[in-house]
Amino acid sequence: MALQRRHRFILPHEIEAYLDGHPMVLDGCFNSQGRIFSAVLMESDVYGMSLSSVVGKCPVCGEDVLVSPVAFNCSCHEKLGEPYHLTLRRHIRGHEVTLDELRELLTDGITRNEVMLIDDKGSLSKAYLRLSDDHKRIVADYNLYN
Ligand SMILES: [Zn+2]
Repeated sequence: MALQRRHRFILPHEIEAYLDGHPMVLDGCFNSQGRIFSAVLMESDVYGMSLSSVVGKCPVCGEDVLVSPVAFNCSCHEKLGEPYHLTLRRHIRGHEVTLDELRELLTDGITRNEVMLIDDKGSLSKAYLRLSDDHKRIVADYNLYN
């Protein structure tokens, strides 16, 4: 665990979320070069737990999706001849996208549950999160069932 010295402490509620099967993104981690990064707790054969930036699979090319402090990005920028064919901001209209929601977006293209988002008029409205058709944005779906 020598590397862990540079990492920030992992908070009790973050451990609980992980044990519950709903890991959270841990921001403000530092790597051995002192660079800040974001990661999730992962099961590891060697350490029991380890940190990983991999949070899912890209629905476009199948490569790993990595979490950064601001976005979820496909790790394979060069594939398909188009850089950043999947780059999703982690915040949409005042809502922080959870890893559960991200997983639903990557596999189903839409979230299972509604979240509260700030709508165009500046008030809070319930909406589903949906992956845009070009996979470049998470968009709000306010009236799926209306
Ligand atoms: Zn990709």
